[in-house]
Amino acid sequence: MDMIFKDLREFEKKYDEKAIMALHQTQCPCGKCREMDFTDVRVTIGAVHIEIPECPVMKCPACGEMQLCPIIPAEIYKAYDKRPQNGNFCKLTIRNNRRFEWAHTLNLQYDSRDLCIPGLNVDLDPMHPEGYSCPVFFKRKVLGAFYNDDDYVLDFFSESYGCIAKKGTDGFEYDWLVHFGINKNDKVVMFLGDLDTIDSEEAAAHFLNIYNIESDHCIVDTELYRAQMNCVPSKPIVEKRILALKESFYHRVQKKYGISLFHLQDECEEQKEKLQKPLHYTEKEIRINIDLMDGILNEGIDSDGLKKLYKVIYNADPPKAIRTQTRKLLEQIIASKDEKADRTIGPLYALNDLRNYFSHLLSQQKMDELKNNALDTLMLTEFNDYRKLYDTLIKRLYSLYQYLNVMDL
Ligand SMILES: [Zn+2]
Repeated sequence: MDMIFKDLREFEKKYDEKAIMALHQTQCPCGKCREMDFTDVRVTIGAVHIEIPECPVMKCPACGEMQLCPIIPAEIYKAYDKRPQNGNFCKLTIRNNRRFEWAHTLNLQYDSRDLCIPGLNVDLDPMHPEGYSCPVFFKRKVLGAFYNDDDYVLDFFSESYGCIAKKGTDGFEYDWLVHFGINKNDKVVMFLGDLDTIDSEEAAAHFLNIYNIESDHCIVDTELYRAQMNCVPSKPIVEKRILALKESFYHRVQKKYGISLFHLQDECEEQKEKLQKPLHYTEKEIRINIDLMDGILNEGIDSDGLKKLYKVIYNADPPKAIRTQTRKLLEQIIASKDEKADRTIGPLYALNDLRNYFSHLLSQQKMDELKNNALDTLMLTEFNDYRKLYDTLIKRLYSLYQYLNVMDL
């Protein structure tokens, strides 16, 4: 990128207060989010040449449009001001290896240039040392580590935003809680300052360390970033979070194997809008939700897609007996990674049993059978406590779809 100015006045005019504000705009006129990138920039101000190798810029991934990161004009100004006397050439380097005080005992890798991303170098608390919002990147597997450890909680608010927390001691719900985002490259991002409360001796520090990776600088188009900018909607109801995780699992399969599990997608979208949190847990309320959820989760999955996925994983056709049974196919797919697959998938069976039970179109004997199956699967004894029945079902479904999002595919 070459920029030529007649003199310093012209440079100052080009980058006045309003122009700097515009550099904070992360949305490209084409509608996509700009993400940080690097390019060599050459600035000429009168007779002075300033070279900025690998200068942080914000670039639109769709149309390629580029603009300087908002702090760069001030850096250029400083370089111009402090250039060697009578010198007409200087080089400005934006360092990537600055270390910040936050979470220093965890010894994580990060790229200090990421603070050039609009909004990330802003801290509303002037007492804070710099670098609170420096993003730290991890392999997606880090979520699996927290999911599998009972001392921690993993919670998804949507398919790409959630939190990890340490279960509380001393009567507190959590000892600490950290939000994470998942970016378009499937990397997990957290803010350095948020990690400051994690003790370097605890298991979490170990998980973070082994899965910590180099920054890919992609954070603007994440819900974590939008939350940081205070414009994130509140956490949706758990039923909708389950459906978001379902979509995310299907997308993961599509990305990795090119196999689509989507089925009746338009109908599923329509059904989703009808879901509401039960208020009084009446039979009617839970029947409606169970019906909707069963339609989306059990019917809205493509059995041909599952067959293909089975074939890729086992290098053989699925046995004839289960070829058209979506739950059995999914169970076998899970069984390739998880010996407790029957328990993991259980809630999908319970969901279907309950849907059939509440449709009341069956013989009493069959209804009793469905009822007992559901109770067994959910490890409950009392069928008429609808609140407990429904909440247990939803909790187990949530856990299943969390699993499908953290397991290695
Ligand atoms: Zn664009």
